[in-house]
Amino acid sequence: MTKYRLEYIWLDGYTPVPNLRGKTQIKSFDEFPKLEELPLWGFDGSSTKQAEGSSSDCVLKPVSVYPDPARTNGALVLCEVMMPDGVTPHPSNKRATIVDDEGCWFGFEQEYFFYKDGRPLGFPESGYPEPQGKYYTGVGYENVGDIAREITEAHLDLCLEAGLNHEGINAEVAKGQWEFQIFGKGSKRAADEIWIARYLLQRLTEQYGIVIEYHCKPLGATDWNGSGMHANFSTRYMRETGGKDYFLKLMAAFEKNVDEHIAVYGPDNHMRLTGLHETQAIDQFSWGVADRGASIRVPHSFVNNGYKGYLEDRRPNSQGDPYQIASVILKTVAEVEGA
Ligand code: ADP
Ligand code: MN
Ligand code: MN
Ligand code: MN
Ligand code: MN
Repeated sequence: MTKYRLEYIWLDGYTPVPNLRGKTQIKSFDEFPKLEELPLWGFDGSSTKQAEGSSSDCVLKPVSVYPDPARTNGALVLCEVMMPDGVTPHPSNKRATIVDDEGCWFGFEQEYFFYKDGRPLGFPESGYPEPQGKYYTGVGYENVGDIAREITEAHLDLCLEAGLNHEGINAEVAKGQWEFQIFGKGSKRAADEIWIARYLLQRLTEQYGIVIEYHCKPLGATDWNGSGMHANFSTRYMRETGGKDYFLKLMAAFEKNVDEHIAVYGPDNHMRLTGLHETQAIDQFSWGVADRGASIRVPHSFVNNGYKGYLEDRRPNSQGDPYQIASVILKTVAEVEGA
């Protein structure tokens, strides 16, 4: 038997954006534990906005498990929060009730800022660095500074070693802003992996004294880009059948459901979806081929393949909950494809 360090990870009850929480327990297993072998556990919900102090116990139910590359014999155990009965999902537990479909593939592009001492990494103590232009996919100290690449490389290594479907990294348009991409088949799979990747990024940057700023417009109404979490998606029908009629019906359904989508596409999105900085305005809906000012960007490959492939919903923001984002996309798609 080997003693494993099990990090139970969950989302707390803060709104509109939950925080990641985690605590460790040690358990013995013959080999790396399977999900079914991981016991339920509890925590003090009164300290996480998930219960009153007088009845504070909440239950952690493991839902996926990954090797923890930062620990010897470690496991990252992603959990759903349940009521004390262990079977009823806690109201903060969105994962339990979302629409899922393993035939729908999602690729999330998580953008974020590194913040140090209250400002984006690489910003001078007062004022601003050189305006945006050369930072996106940039190289060189003047563009990316001295530490960001070390961190993003280390984060990539951690994600790959944890078995996540990490698909890539790039420096983003604003100084101190970066992106990583996670791909998954099914809402839960893709969204679980985004949360674990966020967890690994936050834990890694503790030692650098750096905060991950996920707010979608941390620099407010300036000429600095905000952060999104573009949701690329493709259902089996989109990949295998598609067609222009289907596509136009799908876009009509997306247009009709704008409010329902925006409601779960992340807080403060009106600050980001202004129609500037590669966004469409929050109250408009549009699609366009290769158009980064559209709500939905249609890749050239989609049109060239006879309206088949994947689409990019550019509206979800960096603080959005990937469970709910994937779920609302699937709901709208189901109106066209049938449930
Ligand atoms: P860009 O920055 O040009 O918008 P990225 O390369 O950052 O594009 O992200 C595109 C994402 O699209 C990739 O991370 C990938 O996971 C995702 N993707 C590619 N093909 C599919 C597909 N068939 N279904 C869903 N997502 C896909
Ligand atoms: Mn205790
Ligand atoms: Mn991208
Ligand atoms: Mn981007
Ligand atoms: Mn994109």
